[in-house]
Amino acid sequence: MGYLNKTKTPAADSAFESFYGTNLAATDDACSTEMQEEEMSSKNAYRYIKDELLMDGTPALNLASFVTTYMEEEAEKLMMENLSKNFIDVEEYPAMGEIESRCVNIIARLFHAPVENAESQALGVSTIGSSEAIILSVLAAKRRWQNMRKAAGKSTEKPNIVMNAAVQVCWEKAARYLEVEEKYWYCTDTKFSADPKELVDLVDENTILVCAILGTTYTGEYEDIKEIDRLLGEKNEKEGLSVYIHVDGASGGFVAPFANPELVWDFQLPLVCSINASGHKYGLTYAGVGWAVWRNKSFLPDEILFTVNYLGSPQVSFTLNFSKSGVHVVGQYYQFLRLGKSGYRNIMNNLTSTSDWLAEKIAAIENSNGEKKFEILGDNLSGKGLPLVAWKLAKQENYDEFAIARTLRSRGWIVPAYTMAPNAGTLKLLRVVVREDFSKARATTFLRDLVDTIKTLDSTPPAVHEYAKQEHQEKQTTKAKRSRKHTHVNDDHSLQGKHGKTHGVC
Ligand SMILES: *Cc1c(COP(=O)(O)O)cnc(C)c1O
Repeated sequence: MGYLNKTKTPAADSAFESFYGTNLAATDDACSTEMQEEEMSSKNAYRYIKDELLMDGTPALNLASFVTTYMEEEAEKLMMENLSKNFIDVEEYPAMGEIESRCVNIIARLFHAPVENAESQALGVSTIGSSEAIILSVLAAKRRWQNMRKAAGKSTEKPNIVMNAAVQVCWEKAARYLEVEEKYWYCTDTKFSADPKELVDLVDENTILVCAILGTTYTGEYEDIKEIDRLLGEKNEKEGLSVYIHVDGASGGFVAPFANPELVWDFQLPLVCSINASGHKYGLTYAGVGWAVWRNKSFLPDEILFTVNYLGSPQVSFTLNFSKSGVHVVGQYYQFLRLGKSGYRNIMNNLTSTSDWLAEKIAAIENSNGEKKFEILGDNLSGKGLPLVAWKLAKQENYDEFAIARTLRSRGWIVPAYTMAPNAGTLKLLRVVVREDFSKARATTFLRDLVDTIKTLDSTPPAVHEYAKQEHQEKQTTKAKRSRKHTHVNDDHSLQGKHGKTHGVC
């Protein structure tokens, strides 16, 4: 195979040649399946890969994701400067370990963890993201429950987690990897955040954890954690149980404390035993950092903590990985130091007002008969939930939400269209996540393009819509068939595979 076009005189890969004059630029398989034999210059390798990556969407226009797409130059510089350090080598890089520890302290206090004395102190760890943090939290809860049951001479056969079916896919992963039964509260067409009473009713003696979501991925609503805590407390007392709550604050953990400081959702509630948050979402750091914090040591059984004598000093380790980059922890610390509470507050308040503005404008869009085109979904605006706008078509049209997303894509905007969580899966919606770099000016441009999109779609003949819809469905079916071969057969959750990952909602 080889990439060299032998019919041409292979130009020496010298510092003088122009990349587009080499045969590298005239081949399409330089290194796609097998490592090539020859070296190439760093300049050409850089250009080759850079050109390939140009086909990616523009991160700033990716309104599908919560994950940070902007950091200041100084933060990027610091991260670049520390790229060569392995985070695990605390003996060699003690300053990095110290910075992680400061971040954990900052986050634990932000979440009102008890810190009075050493025995009752909170513990935390940096992870690759909330998924790792959640897997660790489920593991800790499962082990704690097993220990408790064993001590009482009871069966440890059938542990379960009680949660809303609108959980992020990592909860299903955690449950399946760690062999814990998933007990779901299901959304309806009008209610997307768990009903506290119905959720707590699912709890039984085998429940290792109740998951409460601070900002569901679908509509950004915060679950009523205070009420869940109260009802669970009553149930624990009445039935002699000892069930605790884990708060999935992947998105809301760094939003609520600033945009809605009155909301009581964290360790202030007695049954909240652990919390995760994604540093790379509203923690404002590039992808690769999450946090898990436990109320105190009693929620982390000793058997799952490893003391490793590594490179000269004993360390306690509770992570899934060993070696990893430490630059994201450095980036996270930069944001805490740089912004302070007032910086985070200003940003979160701006995002809240931009999402409120955008929701109001989208709700006001009318068709030619003066009827409202869209309906806003979820009760998340004005800081009550995450700064995002989820909406759907108010009535049946010749085209659907997926067609709107496709048309917006042709203007560069990446907006996901997806179906609602299980049992409310006929509901289709569009969602824009308002992130730090989505300014009001950009929101205004987006709105203009949305209005234009609607005009275009409204004036397109129905037969064209029908053709596009069929083509889209065919593609989805082929994709779903292909992915079912490799994944869990019963996945019918639109954010998790049924419609593929193309809409990139996370
Ligand atoms: C994003 C998200 C996750 C997964 O977090 P990662 O940091 O991407 O691993 C889990 N739960 C919720 C609610 C999320 O929004």
